[in-house]
Amino acid sequence: MSLSILVFAKQVPDTANITGQAMKEDGTVNRAALPAIFNPEDLNALELALELRERYGGKVAVCTMGPPAAANILRRALYMGADETILLTDRRFAGADTLATSYALACAARKYGSCDLILCGRQAIDGDTAQVGPQLAEKLDLPQITYVESVEWVRKGRIRAKAQIDGGYEIIEAPTPILLTVLASSNAPRPVGAKRLMQYKKAVTRSELSARHGGRDYEDANLLAAEEEGLRARGLWIYEWGVDDLEADARHFGLAGSPTKVKQIESVVLTGSGTKDVPPTDEGIRDLVHELIEDHILS
Ligand SMILES: Cc1cc2nc3c(=O)[nH]c(=O)nc-3n(C[C@H](O)[C@H](O)[C@H](O)COP(=O)(O)OP(=O)(O)OC[C@H]3O[C@@H](n4cnc5c(N)ncnc54)[C@H](O)[C@@H]3O)c2cc1C
Repeated sequence: MSLSILVFAKQVPDTANITGQAMKEDGTVNRAALPAIFNPEDLNALELALELRERYGGKVAVCTMGPPAAANILRRALYMGADETILLTDRRFAGADTLATSYALACAARKYGSCDLILCGRQAIDGDTAQVGPQLAEKLDLPQITYVESVEWVRKGRIRAKAQIDGGYEIIEAPTPILLTVLASSNAPRPVGAKRLMQYKKAVTRSELSARHGGRDYEDANLLAAEEEGLRARGLWIYEWGVDDLEADARHFGLAGSPTKVKQIESVVLTGSGTKDVPPTDEGIRDLVHELIEDHILS
């Protein structure tokens, strides 16, 4: 048995290292002011995919929707061991809320073709909604297991996984194809392999290849076509899909397709005035608990 696994990964602002104005006037993220990283739990999803490929054989593809620079996380995925990478990039995808994001990812999954498992991280560290995975499963009419801690086995048409729930975990058996959302606690993502880094650092998208040739119009230059063929053969081709490459209703993409608008973001900074000394006595603790209940922080 071999598995075809598609991992969705997001390039996110490194929220721990904000260097400029985080938000633009229109409520979208000012990505230029924020160093970009591979969303941490998507590294766990990729690691799980690579482990399952080692167990059962097969192929691992990684897809991201983002600006052209998001190709950087796809190169990292290649360095870790991915077989194929897809960049969904188009100005018309920009500003998407989770509904529009999951719509675009569902279109990409259909274009990619049938696969046994679709893996997402549980949550992205910027939007923090944990909505895209479940929405994507819904749009693809797939069963889903969220908060996956580990996969016990995959057999023809079935999977058995351990998923976290409040105060414990569940062992779930379900039919495949299926979508899983993966937890940070599920594994320790492997480091980038030096040999693979040397092998795949030249992996490029069509736009990057064209830019390398001074942005000359691609179709006219057989040179670029021949070069593309050569790159594909060496696994150095990052597929690049835009709105026109997807069978889709473009009105459902990006800001236009997003009922949710991020109105404002601000950093919450706890100040000294926000703290209170609690005497380490039974009475002190009792008073604190009463206060928290009164403030509806505790119920
Ligand atoms: C501060 C902030 C607040 C926001 N609040 C909301 C909100 O309340 N409602 C709303 O609809 N939108 C909101 N957004 C927009 C939201 O971030 C985007 O829609 C985003 O593309 C997906 O949502 P998320 O970041 O919460 O991802 P999550 O749902 O947390 O992501 C879960 C998983 O889905 C996959 N995934 C998500 N995005 C991509 C991608 N671009 N490419 C590939 N895989 C992906 C990854 O595997 C990821 O781990 C917010 C954005 C910001 C910055």
